[in-house]
Amino acid sequence: MQTHQFDAIIVGAGGAGLMAALYASKGGAKVAVVSKLYPTRSHTGAALGGIGAALGNLDEDKPLWHAYDTVKGGDYLADQNAAKVLAENAVDAVIELEHMGLPFDRTPEGRISQRRFGGHTSNFGEKAVRRACHAADRTGHMILQTLYQQCIKNDVKFFVEFHVVDVAMNQGHCVGCVAIELGTGEFHVFHAKATLFATGGWGRVWQITSNAHSLTGDGAAAVYRRGVPMQDMEFFQFHPTGLYGLGVLLTEGIRGEGGILLNRHGERFMEKYAPSIKDLASRDVVSRSIYMEVRAGNGIGGKDYVHLDIRPQTVNRYLAEAGETRRVDEAFVARVLAETLDVCRTYAGVDPLTEPMPIQPTAHYAMGGIPTNVDAEVVIDENWTVLPGMYAAGECACVSCHGANRLGTNSLVDLIVFGRRGGMKIAEYVKGADFIPLPANPTGESEAELKRIRSSKGKTRPYQLRQDMQKMMMAKVGVFREGKALAEAVDDVKALRERYRTDLTIDDQGYKFNTDLMEAWELGCLLDLAEATAVSALNRTESRGGHSREDYQERDDEKWLVHTLVTLKSDKAYADNSATLEINTNKKVDMSLAAEDPRFVPKPRVY
Ligand SMILES: Cc1cc2nc3c(=O)[nH]c(=O)nc-3n(C[C@H](O)[C@H](O)[C@H](O)COP(=O)(O)OP(=O)(O)OC[C@H]3O[C@@H](n4cnc5c(N)ncnc54)[C@H](O)[C@@H]3O)c2cc1C
Repeated sequence: MQTHQFDAIIVGAGGAGLMAALYASKGGAKVAVVSKLYPTRSHTGAALGGIGAALGNLDEDKPLWHAYDTVKGGDYLADQNAAKVLAENAVDAVIELEHMGLPFDRTPEGRISQRRFGGHTSNFGEKAVRRACHAADRTGHMILQTLYQQCIKNDVKFFVEFHVVDVAMNQGHCVGCVAIELGTGEFHVFHAKATLFATGGWGRVWQITSNAHSLTGDGAAAVYRRGVPMQDMEFFQFHPTGLYGLGVLLTEGIRGEGGILLNRHGERFMEKYAPSIKDLASRDVVSRSIYMEVRAGNGIGGKDYVHLDIRPQTVNRYLAEAGETRRVDEAFVARVLAETLDVCRTYAGVDPLTEPMPIQPTAHYAMGGIPTNVDAEVVIDENWTVLPGMYAAGECACVSCHGANRLGTNSLVDLIVFGRRGGMKIAEYVKGADFIPLPANPTGESEAELKRIRSSKGKTRPYQLRQDMQKMMMAKVGVFREGKALAEAVDDVKALRERYRTDLTIDDQGYKFNTDLMEAWELGCLLDLAEATAVSALNRTESRGGHSREDYQERDDEKWLVHTLVTLKSDKAYADNSATLEINTNKKVDMSLAAEDPRFVPKPRVY
């Protein structure tokens, strides 16, 4: 076992982790990033469409309008102070990325080009606004490359292909983390004054997902297993346009450029569900509309998918109908949606320039996660009590600026805004803080659990259990939910966990790059997060944003303008079914903008 000491450890090298590392190091801290993937392979690199900021380069725009859309899109569960910080900080954060060298697309005048995205409007919902800054449809890729280079320049140390399995806690502080070096199987302990988790989402809980195989929520699970609550886990976003059968994401930028959703009769069905903003309504609304069409027998060929059409003749027909002068041609589509065309041709054998794309909703984004304040400090209760030394940012965190449903382009903003704030806060904190000793035997429990998995002699392989969980979660904790199925889901997860503990087997007994073992580990994390999601969803008896209950179809602002905090109560680090989950709904949603401006007071969402 090796021990390393740094002022700050950043777990995860996606956009949030790299931004935090950069800013902590700029502030003078000695920083290391620990990542199970090579940094530029992080899922941030898959983000296509863009990053929202009210630059106003093409249409008039203001941060307050961006904050309004974020709060409304989040179905009023967003903490309004966090939405305000997000929108205000977005402007200079994007300009800063440009100054670091990010090659954004440009307007003819040389400004950063912007495109439309779902739910983004000007003047408090008046009309769609061009707010998404983008580098073709490879925005996330460019962010990662840019930030990684800047981190190298700032002497951030990288531990790459190191898988974090546990958090080190002592005297009520987070004092670092425990990782396995994948190349050797050796344990490493990272001792730090401040540890920031930026480990991304857990879309792999569901069968159809846009998320990379690596998105198994291990960072959030590690924190959760140490008694930190998870917030708003019931809110998981299904993106409306995943490639049928595969879930691979087709960016909202397609609809932003004029793409249209059509059912088997060639009807533009979003006109029924969101008469004003139509195909660009927020994602929860569009995903539900697709399901309703499918239920009504309007799926293509009676199946469970619809079409997304970006063929120039279709787009131009609807642009003309809407009285717009803009027209698109094949060369334009091929240029601004290059990645999309490639994905469709490669994975579906469909050429979007000549045929419509088959799409279905796909599990995409965790609105919930590790609760933090606007400085990325982890907070553990309704009184916003800070857990010293522990920070979180990006998708694994819940600030909560996205509330019950995230708007497109707002995750990339979240990464750079709250990653940066977290990095700055850490730089300040470590200056005044001393190292608190590591706990005795920091690797003890994770080592024992890995040994247990390695030597289990059951019949079920991890992939079989994983598939069972994914199918079950898709059917019972998906786009539409209902009490009985949710209660079953809670029991089903328990049964799966029992099999995980008693009936697992893996083939590889080695130590070097034992992906068999690590996949089994990841499955344990997924199961814990699936349970937290199902329990939180069962508890919330209303429909809001990404959480849609067929037995409670109304949004209930009297009772439910509160966050869900779910805590794992167990005296063992790796919970079995003797652990209990405690739910706390005393944390009220921050309404600070509504207190000053009646437009921010919750009202029914109309599109
Ligand atoms: C296909 C796709 C397209 C998207 N498009 C957009 C878009 O256009 N605009 C937008 O705003 N959002 C978009 N999103 C959402 C957005 O990309 C993600 O929410 C965001 O990139 C998450 O960034 P992150 O820094 O939190 O984590 P990630 O980029 O997911 O990185 C996670 C990091 O954590 C590390 N890690 C994880 N577990 C461990 C562990 N146990 N030990 C060590 N390291 C670990 C990984 O190695 C990785 O470096 C998209 C998402 C997907 C899936």
